[in-house]
Amino acid sequence: MKILIVNAGSSSLKYQLVDMDGEKLMAKGLVERIGIEGSKLTQKAGGEQIVFEQPIKDHTEACTLMIKALTDPEKGAVKEMSEIGAVGHRVLHGGEAFTASVLINEEVKDAIRANIPLGPLHNPANLMGIEACEKVMPGTPNVAVFDTAFHQTMPPKAFLYGVPYEYYERLHVRRYGFHGTSHRYVSKRACEFLGLDRAKTRVITCHLGNGSSMAAVDCGKCVDTSMGITPLEGVIMGTRSGSMDPAVVQYIANNDHMTVDEVLNMCNKKSGLLGISGLSSDMRDIDAAADSGNERAIIARDMLISGIRKYIGSYAAVMNGVDVIVFTAGIGENGAELREKVMSGFEYMGAKLDRQKNIDGNRKESVISADDSKVKIVVIPTDEEIVIARDTLCIVTGKPIE
Ligand code: ADP
Repeated sequence: MKILIVNAGSSSLKYQLVDMDGEKLMAKGLVERIGIEGSKLTQKAGGEQIVFEQPIKDHTEACTLMIKALTDPEKGAVKEMSEIGAVGHRVLHGGEAFTASVLINEEVKDAIRANIPLGPLHNPANLMGIEACEKVMPGTPNVAVFDTAFHQTMPPKAFLYGVPYEYYERLHVRRYGFHGTSHRYVSKRACEFLGLDRAKTRVITCHLGNGSSMAAVDCGKCVDTSMGITPLEGVIMGTRSGSMDPAVVQYIANNDHMTVDEVLNMCNKKSGLLGISGLSSDMRDIDAAADSGNERAIIARDMLISGIRKYIGSYAAVMNGVDVIVFTAGIGENGAELREKVMSGFEYMGAKLDRQKNIDGNRKESVISADDSKVKIVVIPTDEEIVIARDTLCIVTGKPIE
């Protein structure tokens, strides 16, 4: 079966077409600037490229154009739309309603809608993507894969905040966690790669990208994660502050006559590596500046390293130890130097990096711990799309999701 994977943002739509017979990528595309000037579709399929530059008013038009590109007789990937067996959608916030991927029906859409207050930027866009596919591809089943679902196994002691319980009951205030599809994929893949039984293995996953999150995965189940009710909590990120005393928000709002929304916008978009360094949110720029002696870039990088180390220590405490530590996403997969700094001094816990293996371990599945390291340290490139495609295939063919 051929499965289309859709990741709809407010003004963009990313897609991939995968032939599940061999899990081959058939086409990959991006529709950008939907509803704004300069709309464009770019698609690559089997060495051919298609570019459509034309006004694209909304997500329905974006989907129509996507199908036109996919079925292009010369440069497309399929002859007819009917060859696409199902569509898997990435959805940010499933709240407490979804513990796994689901076939989309009216009830599921209502639940995604009900979670808009928790994911105000992403859920409406994700819904637009779903509804556009329903319109443009009638009769093709749609599946939702949630960023939050994998973390739903966390116990209350990990997901509750220390505010009165009524806020959880009345307003669903709790930790949800994000990047769940990635944490699920890399924790499982790491065990397969190392030949370990997932049901007996304690894994700490470090998803370090523009947005970063950590997770403690005990015997295949997530027991704690660093992101919270929104993706703002946890380690310092490209533009997000990560965890801090919430009184900071009040203090800045009062002093600078800003609203809570304005301060939080600053915490989400102008903070983190960018805010501390004053230079860039991109780790490559931070590394280059820090290596040439820029003090604030050095502090920003040290804050990230220190934050990751604290989570590794605390998640080892949560699981009474750790067997595998996984690095993934842009920084985790490429940042050998950062990985070395993160893992230095963890020998007391039985985790010892091999310097050369770490340098050679970028961008591919690799063991980067020393042969005598009790804790295995690995790089596993994440692949959220394949998880969405596999879940979608399982759901539409009635097979259990792994
Ligand atoms: P997103 O969260 O947007 O999916 P990615 O997982 O692609 O982000 O990660 C982006 C981050 O990865 C950026 O900070 C980028 O600088 C970093 N990155 C990419 N390549 C390297 C590299 N060679 N060394 C260090 N960081 C890198």
